[in-house]
Amino acid sequence: MRLILLGPPGAGKGTQASNLVKKYGIVQLSTGDLLRSAAAAGTPVGLHAKEIMARGELVPDDIVVEIVAARISQPDAKNGFILDGFPRTVPQAEALDHMLHRKKLDLDAVIELKVDETILLKRIEKRVAEMTARGDALRADDNAAALHKRLEAYRAQTAPLIAFYGDKGTLRTVDGMAEIDDVAKAIERVLAEQEQAGARAHAAR
Ligand code: ADP
Repeated sequence: MRLILLGPPGAGKGTQASNLVKKYGIVQLSTGDLLRSAAAAGTPVGLHAKEIMARGELVPDDIVVEIVAARISQPDAKNGFILDGFPRTVPQAEALDHMLHRKKLDLDAVIELKVDETILLKRIEKRVAEMTARGDALRADDNAAALHKRLEAYRAQTAPLIAFYGDKGTLRTVDGMAEIDDVAKAIERVLAEQEQAGARAHAAR
C-alpha cells in the first residue's frame, strides 16, 4: 500500500501515519523527520536545511526529492509506505510521479486531512506543552512566528496539491477535526474502499 497524507501543519498526519504503520506493516516516511535527522547528524545538506526549517520555510525541492528517492528504494519500503510531509509542492508531486512510474508503482490513495485553521495553533501549542512535560527537545519551528510561516507556505505551495490530485481522481478527503480514533477509522474506510475498487478493476481486466 502506498499512500500520501496531505494537510496543514498540525493536521495530525504524523499521528495517523503511526496508526497506519501498526495496522498495515508499512513504513512511515516523514520528510520533516528525515530532514531533522540529517540536521542532527550535521551533514552538509542537514545543516543547510536546518536554518530553512527553523524559519518555517520549505527546503528546496531538489534536496527533498533526492532524500525521498533514496528512502523509498530501501528494502523496508518494498511493502509500501506512507508519505507524510511529501510532496509539499507541485514540482515535488511531479517528481514523485516520475519516480513511481520508473519503478512501475502506483499510489493507492492521497488522503487529505481537512481541518479548520483556527485549531492548528492550539494543537501545536498542545504538542509543545506535551513535549516540554516529557522533557523532550522542542522543534525549532514550533513557535508562533515559524508556525505562521509554515501555514503561509502550506497555503501558497502545498494546498495546490489538492487540485493536482483531485484532477487525477486519487484524492480522498477525511475530516481531520474528529477525534483521533474516528479519523483513523475514516482513513481505514477509505483504504478498504480503494482496495475493493482495485480488486474490481483487476477482475475486469
Ligand atoms: P509540519 O507538517 O508539522 O509543518 P514537518 O515535520 O512535516 O512539519 O516539516 C517541518 C519542516 O521541514 C518544514 O517546515 C520544511 O522546512 C521542511 N520540510 C519537510 N518536508 C518538506 C518538503 N517535502 N519540502 C520542503 N520542505 C520540507
